[in-house]
Parts: sequence; C-alpha cells; structure tokens
Amino acid sequence: MGDAWIMKHQISADWDWHLAQHEASHNYKCPDHGYTGSVCIMTYANMMITANWCVDCDQTIETNRNHF
Ligand SMILES: [Zn+2]
Ligand SMILES: [Zn+2]
Repeated sequence: MGDAWIMKHQISADWDWHLAQHEASHNYKCPDHGYTGSVCIMTYANMMITANWCVDCDQTIETNRNHF
C-alpha cells in the first residue's frame, strides 16, 4: 500500500488477509478509493470490515480477469 496511514493503525491477524485482498485487487487494476468512500475493500476505512468490492471494482476485476 505504501501509505503512512497503515502505520497509524493497529495491525491484527485479520488485517493481513484484508491487506492481501486489497493488494491483489491492485493487480487487477483496482484503484485506491482513499480513506472514506464506497463500501469496498479498496476504501481504507472499510477494507477491515468488508471483503467485497463496489460495483466499479467488481467491473474492473471482471474486465481484467478476462484480459489475462
Ligand atoms: Zn491500495
Ligand atoms: Zn471499489
């Protein structure tokens, strides 16, 4: 992620898994949504509480998955 934000937040066992999914999503060209925004794993405030993507990311992953 490379953000200073991560340093200010507690790292838990759960975190690893969510972070991994977040990072994997970048491989499918999903952008970071910033600190707040859609209920999406690419939104920092929500990535700990959801394992889902918003419609935009869903579409992006779908597109790029077929591409590879
Ligand atoms: Zn990110
Ligand atoms: Zn999203």
